[in-house]
Amino acid sequence: MPIRRLSEDMVNRIAAGEVVERPASVVKELVENAIDAGATRIEVVTAAGGAALIRVTDDGGGMGPDELPLAVERHCTSKLDGGLDDIRSLGFRGEALAAIGSAARLSVASRKRGAADAFAIEVEGGRITPVHPAALGAGTRVEVRDLFFATPARLKFLKSERAESSAITDMVKRLAMAHPGIRFSLAGADRTAQDFAPATGDDAELRRLAAVIGPDFRDNAVAIDALREDVRLTGFAGLPTYNRANGLSQFLFVNGRPVRDKQLTGAVRAAYSDLLKRDRHPVVALFLALDPSQVDVNVHPTKAEVRFRDPGLVRGLIVGALRQAFAGSGPRASTLAADATVAAFRPEGTRTATPYPPLSRSDGGGGPAKPVEGAREMPYPAGLAEPGQSPFLAAPSADIRPRETATPAPNATHPLGAAVAQVHDTYVVAQTPDGLVIVDQHAAHERLVYERMKANIDRGVARQILLIPDVVDLSAGDVERVAERADELAALGLVVERFGPGAIAVRETPSMLGHVDAAALVRDLAEEFAEWEAGPTLRDRLDRVASRMACHGSVRAGRRLKPAEMDALLREMEVTPNASQCNHGRPTYIELKLADIERLFGRR
Ligand code: ADP
Ligand code: MG
Repeated sequence: MPIRRLSEDMVNRIAAGEVVERPASVVKELVENAIDAGATRIEVVTAAGGAALIRVTDDGGGMGPDELPLAVERHCTSKLDGGLDDIRSLGFRGEALAAIGSAARLSVASRKRGAADAFAIEVEGGRITPVHPAALGAGTRVEVRDLFFATPARLKFLKSERAESSAITDMVKRLAMAHPGIRFSLAGADRTAQDFAPATGDDAELRRLAAVIGPDFRDNAVAIDALREDVRLTGFAGLPTYNRANGLSQFLFVNGRPVRDKQLTGAVRAAYSDLLKRDRHPVVALFLALDPSQVDVNVHPTKAEVRFRDPGLVRGLIVGALRQAFAGSGPRASTLAADATVAAFRPEGTRTATPYPPLSRSDGGGGPAKPVEGAREMPYPAGLAEPGQSPFLAAPSADIRPRETATPAPNATHPLGAAVAQVHDTYVVAQTPDGLVIVDQHAAHERLVYERMKANIDRGVARQILLIPDVVDLSAGDVERVAERADELAALGLVVERFGPGAIAVRETPSMLGHVDAAALVRDLAEEFAEWEAGPTLRDRLDRVASRMACHGSVRAGRRLKPAEMDALLREMEVTPNASQCNHGRPTYIELKLADIERLFGRR
């Protein structure tokens, strides 16, 4: 076959395949155009998951009749003034409208700001109609019907109407988060309508984020604002205890552009690495701002991936800023815990799902908590006799140990209050100036040991010599893995050596762990090492080993604490970074304000 030049229409269709992957990408392109045009209101209407109709209306600067034919033509843009190194608008490739016009029935109506009349142009499967007068008050209205009718192969790849519709919702949400000052509305027969009112003022960003992510986010996030060289990171990071089962609530933006970028999500993951179990995911909305010359947004036609000139800098900024923010935020309990506690006392049906995986020491949990056995057998009257209470009634009151000495009055410098009792030898109850906290002594102590260990890594962790070395039988592979890391383990206070082909001898253990079961510790570490195919950095490795070790050295649930020990635990939690959650992202304590308690008793 001879070489032939592709027709304009064919070129557009090929491009359309890249720019317009699915209805949500059309929405993205059209909304970004509206933002670039300076709109303050953007309205999106869809039908059949966007396959039948996508209509985006804005009140931006609009286009005149002479501009409309150019707008729908390929490689025509009003935005590439400064060249590819200086991209300040969301669009710049000048191919979205042309691509959409080649794959669907496109109609663009627009009225240039200050002009008396509006005009429109249509494109159907690549055929452009002449510009004609239209009726439109202001701004631009772009309508896309029968997406992919001209490219049936692509049509087949559309997911269910529901899936496409929710992808559109997700896209609009991301764009709305990045532009809190713009009013966004989303409607259509295929969805529940959403409306994000424009947010202004100091906390505009957080208000918009809460509107999109959920009202809880406001009370469960820490503000981030950090600068490294000329790269600025702002936004909000959810408390580690405010976590989710999937990664869908990680919203990342580069220069106002929503991106899904592996490097960035990897950095977020690393920032939460020892605050969250690996199968739980944080909730973040982070905005990177940097000089356009420092980032290439032109890696992919949909611009979802970006490439940084200095990726190490960006990663370091994200990891550093988030860790610092958590460590510096002091003890902070997730409000979800209090809400869940209050809800647990409420009649069946008015409860919300528990936000945490169940507390199972062996596997760290996963999945929602199961209701109490038999709880659903008969209807209970609302109020006291409801099933959520039975586990409490089952506990013998003799198991509650009030402290024998007088309780010191709680004061404001001790946010975790004064210990009043230990319950079931597992939980410490403390009175705070405006409520009470319940501390999970094992989880809390584990965190304290871990943080202490990390703080001592560089100085060398103090160790104690075992009178008789502990010999641990292991598989040959495990012996190999443990022996290989003997130096790193020594830095953490664990001195081991090979003991024949099938065993490891433990000679010294970290003092701060106290009396530990060395065999269980080494087996646990061997298991941890076996998971390390990907080769974490040295610092990560030390942290992870420290985390495993901490678990072995902790005050186990079931140990009786003296009043002074309870108070010491609370005081240490107050000054230890990240003490509000265990290494798996579960809370180490929950706080009930008097207001919560009043809610329980129906006083509010
Ligand atoms: P790009 O956004 O990359 O420039 P598009 O194909 O998306 O390419 O749009 C082409 C041009 O049409 C834009 O550069 C802009 O001048 C104009 N345009 C598109 N949508 C709008 C709109 N909603 N309001 C005003 N002008 C628009
Ligand atoms: Mg565009």
